[in-house]
Amino acid sequence: MDDPRERIFREFMEKTEGHVNPKLLRRILDANADFTDWMIERHDLGKDYTFSPQFWGGFGPCAAYDWEYNHKRIDTTIGPGGTGWYLTNKLLGILLENGGAIRYRTKAEHLELDENGAICGVTVSDPGGKLHISCGACVIAAGAFSRNRELVDKFNPIFYKEGAEPVHIFTCATCTGDGITMGVEQGVDIDYVNARVGMFGPMRHPYGAAGFALCTSRHGVNVNKNGELRKPEPFGNAVSHLADEPGRVEYRIVNEATADRAEREAFGRPEDVPGCNMNPFYENWKAEFQQ
Ligand SMILES: Cc1cc2nc3c(=O)[nH]c(=O)nc-3n(C[C@H](O)[C@H](O)[C@H](O)COP(=O)(O)OP(=O)(O)OC[C@H]3O[C@@H](n4cnc5c(N)ncnc54)[C@H](O)[C@@H]3O)c2cc1C
Repeated sequence: MDDPRERIFREFMEKTEGHVNPKLLRRILDANADFTDWMIERHDLGKDYTFSPQFWGGFGPCAAYDWEYNHKRIDTTIGPGGTGWYLTNKLLGILLENGGAIRYRTKAEHLELDENGAICGVTVSDPGGKLHISCGACVIAAGAFSRNRELVDKFNPIFYKEGAEPVHIFTCATCTGDGITMGVEQGVDIDYVNARVGMFGPMRHPYGAAGFALCTSRHGVNVNKNGELRKPEPFGNAVSHLADEPGRVEYRIVNEATADRAEREAFGRPEDVPGCNMNPFYENWKAEFQQ
């Protein structure tokens, strides 16, 4: 299989109109490949994963069927039990096996720098109060910032636009952008202009496989609240055209036969974990839409 790094690099630079630091972008792509190699060579990733077609398209590692979780899921596109969850558990296992520790319910609040400006510690709070942790390096991986209105307003003012219909946000309550806030406090320069805040249409969560299959099919017609025809947009646009529609809403109109056809066409789509039969979820579309 071809190494896609060069293609992804070019696409990314093109879409961000050259505003992204090319060295950093290359480093991310290379680190991704190194990480997967490390997982395969040192931690037997191939034992639990297969390299298979992905639910979203393309190829990638897919977790093996995990009976404990997978057979309980009413819809395999909704976790836990999918590949991301599986990988997180695997990494947790590697960390603990190697003597690492996790401090749960502990919130990082401030980064501490020494007189040379190098990171030397973090102030954290846990149920017992404040605590200081010394460190020689710190990886900031505090997730997204969509629950922090002040930050989102800086990155994408139309997201929480005053008077507009609220956007459905499916990120976790912990996505408050603490990593950014802590960085800014220490003078980190944040690029508010070129960063992207995904605001794609409701093609997916919290819907299950059947809803997704219908939305991504080409069947039916889309209309806005005024009854004007709208062209269905591809999944995952950075900013959905719904942002400018009245009420930020669009309807897909289908009759029963067409909906059934869309679901049947989804039969045989790649599973999110090999061995999961997705077809019953597509067959179950009427019950899913009824809910
Ligand atoms: C409902 C849903 C479905 C998704 N489905 C998919 C999918 O199918 N495929 C896909 O590729 N992606 C999916 N994503 C996106 C994917 O989950 C995220 O992109 C990914 O988890 C981001 O990883 P992260 O490590 O950057 O952040 P996170 O996974 O958010 O991890 C950040 C961690 O930092 C912790 N934290 C935050 N602030 C602090 C602080 N001050 N101190 C200490 N800890 C802190 C948080 O509690 C959290 O544990 C989905 C996301 C959601 C919400």
